[in-house]
This record gives sequence, C-alpha cells and structure tokens, in this order.
Amino acid sequence: MKLSKRANRIEPSLTRKLYDMAKSYDDVVDFTLGDPDYETPDRIKEAGCRAIREGRTKYSENAGVLKLRQVIAESIGKETGIQYDPSREIQVTVGAMEALFLTLACMIDPGDEVIIPSPYWVNYKHMVDFLGGKAVLVDVLEENDFVLTPEDFQNAITDKTVAIIINSPNNPTGAVYGREALEGISDIVKKNNLTIIWDECYKSLLYDGAQYVSILDFPDMKDYSIVINSCSKKFSMTGWRLGYLAGPAAFVENLPKIQENVAACAGVPSQYAAIEAFKGEDDTPNLMRDGFEKRRNTLIAEIRKIDKLSVKSPKGTFYALVNIKETGLKSEEFAYKLLESQKVAGVPGITYGDACEGYVRIAFTMNEEKIIEGVRRIRQFVESL
Ligand code: PLP
Repeated sequence: MKLSKRANRIEPSLTRKLYDMAKSYDDVVDFTLGDPDYETPDRIKEAGCRAIREGRTKYSENAGVLKLRQVIAESIGKETGIQYDPSREIQVTVGAMEALFLTLACMIDPGDEVIIPSPYWVNYKHMVDFLGGKAVLVDVLEENDFVLTPEDFQNAITDKTVAIIINSPNNPTGAVYGREALEGISDIVKKNNLTIIWDECYKSLLYDGAQYVSILDFPDMKDYSIVINSCSKKFSMTGWRLGYLAGPAAFVENLPKIQENVAACAGVPSQYAAIEAFKGEDDTPNLMRDGFEKRRNTLIAEIRKIDKLSVKSPKGTFYALVNIKETGLKSEEFAYKLLESQKVAGVPGITYGDACEGYVRIAFTMNEEKIIEGVRRIRQFVESL
C-alpha cells in the first residue's frame, strides 16, 4: 500500500522506543513517560461515569460542549484577568496535542516557518513538518537556564516566520520563562506581527513557591497568542484526552471546521468529566504538585551524589535533564547500556534535538522509593564505566 512522503518523513520518538524496550524487562525502573502515577480524583471519575449513565454519549458541537467552554473561559479569566468569549474564542480538543495540531493546521501554509526553542518537545517539530511547514530550531543553553533570549529569537525571524512555540514550564528541560525574557519575546512577536503558541500544559507544576508568568500578562498579547492547555497533567487525566485552546475569535472561529474533519469533537463523557474538574473545589492539583516537588528534591539530591553527572533542578514539570557529558557516552548509547545492564529506562536527549545531546531525560512520576532505587542503579552503571 502506498505511504505518503509525509508519513515517511516522521520518525517515531526515542521516548516511545525506550518505553517499549523497558516493557520487555522485569523489575525495571521506568523513567521514560510523562504520565503521572496519581489517580484522576474520584469526583471527576464519577462525573465521567454519570455522563455515560445519563446518555451523554453522542457527538457534541465541534467546538466542544458550551458549558465546558464557559468554565474554561472563567478559569482563564480568573487566573489572568483576560476575558475570552466561550462561544467564539475557546476550542475543546482531544488533549493539548490536538489543540496544537488544529492550531498549526489552521495557520501553516507550505514553507511557513515556525520557531521552536531547542531542546524541544518532539511533537512540535513533527507536527510542523507533517503540515508542510519548516521548524526553525533555536538552541537554548543550560548556562542560560534553557530559556530563549529575545536576541536569539529576533535573529531567527525571516519573512517566512509565522509563529513561535513556547512551552513553559518546559518539557524536557524543566525551564520556566520569567517576566524579563517574556517581555522581550512578546515585544518582538508584536513588532513582527507573529503568533505565539503558548503551551502551558505544565502550569500547575511549578516549584519553590514561584508565581506563574503567562504570556497573557503582557499588553495586548491576547491578540497575538494561542494559549494551549489540558486536563492531562493538572488533574491527572492523560487517558481522558481532554485539552483546549483559547485565542482571538478571528482565528479560533475557524477551528470547528477543521475539527469536523479530524475528530468531530473531543470524547463527550470526557468533556463532562472536565466540567467537574474545572468547577470542583478541591486541593488535588496542589497536593500533586507538592508530591512532585518532594520527588524532584529527592531525585536531584541523589543524582548530585554521582561523579560525572550533573543536573539543574527543574523549576517546573516532572522532568529533569541529567547532564551525562563527562561520561563520554552519547545519550543513546548511555540509555541503551543503562537499560541493558541496570534495567533503568531514561530518554536519550538527542530525541529532543541536537542541543540536547549529552543529556538523558528522567521523568519523576513514581514514588520516592523507586526514584532512589533507580538512581542507585544509575550510580552503579556510571561507576562501572
Ligand atoms: N505539550 C507538551 C509540552 C507535552 O509534554 C505534552 C504531553 O506530554 C502535551 C503538550 C500533550 O498533552 P496532552 O495531549 O495529554 O494534553
């Protein structure tokens, strides 16, 4: 059967490869996927089950159930002070993943350039490639806390640039963008009439008491931003596949017609579960954040005891990039040998771009006991080299 050039261009990521390989070992410590081990809170599960029992099992509007769009708009309004019209400026999607895909599908013509700070979440580049655009990768450095500087952003802009994608807190680096960098970046976006695709999926996972800085905090940025988020990480709902985006009506009003041809709508029981997630009052997201912060502290302290490895403490997310350069191994070799000899799976940095060679990504989405055991094995591996 014929395969399109587009399908042939896409390589599976090493994240999935290592995850699949890890499955073939017993007693493995699997640090690969960003899938929180916490349960979806009961009240949200119950709302999903209730929706099924009550027969809310048919298609919804392509833009998503209006009530859900209303609670999303209210939540953004409360957090940022920026108002979105639920009927024209919010699109419900199958995870943040589909929010990104619909946004790019609605924006990119062949040859259009999208700037992506590197290391980057693999799917950004793949989606841009898949849609015939050109991903322009701009390296960000560990010395600069993995944050893109306005100067580097400005230098990457050409007459073909249409957008920049920024993810804060960031997968895989754990970086969080602060006010100064974002002020410079937002000025450049406005000056060049670009769009910023602002992926804030990990917004609920911010550590050390930090205050979140949103792209919407800067003057007029609603007009230049597509803000993307989902229930996956905040409410531990990765498998419910429920995401959303907010943006100016002139753009977002076009998304239902694309959605009609992709998924028709996000799963309807999931949409009702999400309504409960947004309107319910409970402290689960904060408790999860505190849990991840403790795990982060344990992981970082343990890794720092190992000669030849170093790590910057991530300011958000549940990922740490461990610098393995002193071991002399490339990231793929390190990851395969570590899995084979110690049954510990991490993701080779190279999958997140050339700028991430010399790093292995560790997702701390398991209990502390397991993290300590995993790092004990990493230490044995590094000492055996
Ligand atoms: N954006 C980033 C940076 C991610 O890491 C992920 C998932 O890991 C997503 C978006 C997509 O999340 P979901 O589709 O589960 O909402």
